[in-house]
Amino acid sequence: MADLKFQRNFGIAAHIDAGKTTTTERILRYTGMIHRIGEVHDGGATTDWMEQEKERGITITSAAVSCKWQFPTDKGKAIAGTTKDFSFNIIDTPGHVDFTVEVERSMRVLDGLIALFSAVDGVEPQSETVWRQANRYRVPRIGFVNKMDRQGADFLNVVKQVREMLGSKAVPLQLPIGAEDNFQGVVDLIRMKGIIWHVETEGMTFDEVDIPADMVTEAEEWRAALVEAVAEYDDTLMEKFFEDPNSISEDEIHEAIRKATIDLSIVPMMCGSSFKNKGVQTALDAVCRYLPSPVDIEAIEGTDPNDPEKKLVRKPDAKEPFAALAFKIMTDPFVGRLAFFRCYSGHLDAGSYVLNVRSGKKERISRIMKMFANKQNPIDFIEAGDIGAAVGFKEIKTGDTLCDENHPITLENMFIPEPVISVA
Ligand code: GDP
Repeated sequence: MADLKFQRNFGIAAHIDAGKTTTTERILRYTGMIHRIGEVHDGGATTDWMEQEKERGITITSAAVSCKWQFPTDKGKAIAGTTKDFSFNIIDTPGHVDFTVEVERSMRVLDGLIALFSAVDGVEPQSETVWRQANRYRVPRIGFVNKMDRQGADFLNVVKQVREMLGSKAVPLQLPIGAEDNFQGVVDLIRMKGIIWHVETEGMTFDEVDIPADMVTEAEEWRAALVEAVAEYDDTLMEKFFEDPNSISEDEIHEAIRKATIDLSIVPMMCGSSFKNKGVQTALDAVCRYLPSPVDIEAIEGTDPNDPEKKLVRKPDAKEPFAALAFKIMTDPFVGRLAFFRCYSGHLDAGSYVLNVRSGKKERISRIMKMFANKQNPIDFIEAGDIGAAVGFKEIKTGDTLCDENHPITLENMFIPEPVISVA
């Protein structure tokens, strides 16, 4: 059984033109072709990948793309340090206002969001709609302010807008070093170091430097604000904050940020330029650190189809009865109709039967697929917490509950309960 603690199901919510496509493309490239900041890549050229993409019409236009990210367990200090593989499912979150219903649906399927903003345009009216929906479904967010290389880019102004216009406590984890053409990197407010990124076509390398002298006071102020904002999520941190803020460790801050993010009390904010390959990899590390895993969202609720008054609960556990929600139906030129679903509980083998509660029919799933950056892979089975695409349904609609026929459940009116923080 996969360790669900290392699984992340997230979406990228953005106003049109903020750079969602560019960012997604970068993520898939980093996760598929190169492995880690500074490591030698396998030589796969982007253009090949893009051509394949066009030919096959999959992946970034797909409802959910899977990839692996090697998270540096030594806090990102070493370029060739130890890493831990995280499995990502990136769920497509439409950015247009016309797709509000689709956004709501994907909100139920994903556990967290990267909220992407343009450093120039900031919070736009559309962002508010998605934000409200994310609040309603209690979806934790991290903010990524993109386009820092553009004229008029202003990270702290976007942070202010998220606070004032969206009503969330946005807390910077970084301060940009330089802006526009001269955007070089960030001050990491947790490590209190400057990070200078180097533009590379295939990825990002960085140098760690001292905080520029003219930014030291500002960085100290923002760091104190960050620690203060999260201290209430950790008693030890609070004590240390009053006694000697310098005694607080990086791990303690990360853990407190994680708890506060999952509790929707803060939105950690980062910045970069996906176009210039700056900062996206750091944001992926933040996905691992701060966004919840399927086990952090304790259990989903549904009702008994034979007795709608009766509430049923399914835990994110492969040993529970199978329960899943179909969130997108698509036609693929190669495999035909694909029903993307999130498996909330249980285990499903390819070739076995599921009950579609709405139609009352038992259907055979001939194959289960996973979409990767440049290929579609059939998998033998799928388990709680994961996302896949089923082939073989004769009749299926978006929003259908799929379950074990001996343990029927209707998830249609489900809600995601308040996230519960797991004690790791
Ligand atoms: P989407 O509509 O959110 O998917 O946005 P796209 O990824 O298509 O980007 C919209 C435009 O902004 C394109 O012309 C991109 O090349 C450009 N763009 C995206 N990210 C950046 C960035 O970080 N800096 C700059 N200067 N341009 C960007």
